[in-house]
Amino acid sequence: MGCTIGIDLGTTNYCMSISEGGNAIVIQTGEGPRVMPSVVAFTPAGDRLVGIVAKRQAITNPKETISSIKRLMGRKYDELTKGIFNVSYDIIPNENGDAVVRIGDGRTFTPQEISSMILQKMKYRAEEYLGEEVTDVVVTVPAHFNEVQRKATKAACTIAGLNVKRVLNEPTAAALAFTDAVERRKIAVFDFGGGTFDISVLQVVNGIFEVKATTGNTQLGGDDFDALLVEWIMNEFKREKGIDLSEDPVAPQRVREAAERAKCELSAALETSINLPFIASGDQGPVHLEMSISRGLFEGLIKELVESTRPLCQQVLKDAGLTHADLETVVLVGGSTRIPMVRALVEEAFQQEPVHSVNPDEVVAMGAAIAGSVVSGQRKDLVLLDVISLTLGVETLGGVMAPIITKNSPLPIKRSKMFTTAVDNQQIVGIHVLQGERELSEDNRSLARFELVGIRPSPRGVPRIEVTFSIDANGILFVNAKDAVTGKHQELKVNPSGGLSDDDIRELIQDARQYREKDRDRIKLIEMRNNADQLIYEASKLLKTSKDRLDRESIIELESALNELRTARDGSDIPSIESTQKDLAMVFHTTRNILKMVDPIDEEDDSGDMKTEDLKEGID
Ligand code: AMP
Repeated sequence: MGCTIGIDLGTTNYCMSISEGGNAIVIQTGEGPRVMPSVVAFTPAGDRLVGIVAKRQAITNPKETISSIKRLMGRKYDELTKGIFNVSYDIIPNENGDAVVRIGDGRTFTPQEISSMILQKMKYRAEEYLGEEVTDVVVTVPAHFNEVQRKATKAACTIAGLNVKRVLNEPTAAALAFTDAVERRKIAVFDFGGGTFDISVLQVVNGIFEVKATTGNTQLGGDDFDALLVEWIMNEFKREKGIDLSEDPVAPQRVREAAERAKCELSAALETSINLPFIASGDQGPVHLEMSISRGLFEGLIKELVESTRPLCQQVLKDAGLTHADLETVVLVGGSTRIPMVRALVEEAFQQEPVHSVNPDEVVAMGAAIAGSVVSGQRKDLVLLDVISLTLGVETLGGVMAPIITKNSPLPIKRSKMFTTAVDNQQIVGIHVLQGERELSEDNRSLARFELVGIRPSPRGVPRIEVTFSIDANGILFVNAKDAVTGKHQELKVNPSGGLSDDDIRELIQDARQYREKDRDRIKLIEMRNNADQLIYEASKLLKTSKDRLDRESIIELESALNELRTARDGSDIPSIESTQKDLAMVFHTTRNILKMVDPIDEEDDSGDMKTEDLKEGID
């Protein structure tokens, strides 16, 4: 049986993990780091980059570098928080009003497509690591994601050729990774990432993980802190130098990157500085941006947003029927929990020091891998009981929402409610499915509409229409409406993927398959080039430092092998890179052996060599 991979598809970073012998192990990406940026870029040369290489070229290619795509998953364009959404690419509504990305050449991509590109890269890396095909995954989502957002995430996996065994809430995953199955605990998981905030309370009893309550804000995260800092820096610069950087094609991206770096530095230092030379040009020539930022100033900017998490901490305890004194542990998840002000708030809100022993960047993927071992049957000592995070219901007369499944109900669940007609002889009823906590339909998220037709004509209030909602363990909703008199029923056509039809998905799977082959070749080529670069570096260094101790023939041989590999490396013919690399490796080793004979001490002095890891970090 193949391995089930745990995937944390984060707003800022992605990470994946497998469960081996009951323990979760983070899969090292081919690039080196265990956690990679969730960034996709389309280069002018027509390449598609994912991860660290995509992030690195963001400054020169801001309009075609897509980050924080998770914030657009399953969202309508009109719902997006305007202004604070800190990205440099274009977001537009498509014909359904869904938020989609538009790149420079006019092509548009749904968030599901962009996410699937990241997932394809993950699939490739996992397969490379495991040496076998990977299809089954457990993917995590913020607990506060609604139905549409969950389905959009599932659709992204499907497009990437992955089979989702379970959609798991991120805090549940974090608790799974953290808690020993035999322990008995009540845990709060405070998850503050790049784009979302979740707070959940779980109870673990003898290996049963039960989410007691969960709440959060899917539109609040570290990105918002960056946006506030960027705004402050730009205003300051305008005030000091009279130059507005916001219209510049490149400057805002440079400021954004510097602001995020400064934010991270301020988690450890009380003051940091930003230096961006040649950021603009004025009457007197180039203008540089230099300023120092204190932690106090930064905290002043973000205070309101950080404080907005406090009532949610109180709310989740109330929903779980607990007080802070009942909690044994408070776990921190997500990069933004490294901010001292955030940590202080957590400590105050729960009146205990949160634990720091788990890596907040990896814990969700690790928990997803453990959940993978549960759903694949490898681990039988754990049971996962999740809850629905937002109330589901239907619209009734006067635009009022009637709840059918209330938030924090444990999953899986099935609930029915009887409704009737509003006017005499009504033969059709419209069922409008909603999700959210507000009383009026218009304030909640509309999930789908459908009609039940053929109701027997009768006075208003007589027909009995049973509406049934059932949600499976993944939090996926199925709706059925039945006329209890005639037995006629209608299944809900909830849009399966937050804006994509089944046909759209099939087409995208085809595209993705084609790309997968292309991507594999590209990644192979990049890796070959990377290996070649390493050898070129070492051979050039040897040539430079030992030229005077080598005979002319050895020098010519080394130089010529070096040049051959350099030429091949700049092309894209993999066999040619392979063979010239082999040739240079042979000449290189022969030369080193000659030198060893000439001067045995010198040979061991490799201290200045670049390590494989240093080079690997740069490849995609
Ligand atoms: P995540 O979504 O969990 O990967 O969290 C990413 C967010 O955490 C981004 O907004 C990062 O800028 C932020 N982050 C990462 N490290 C730090 C740090 N040391 N201090 C403040 N924020 C950080």
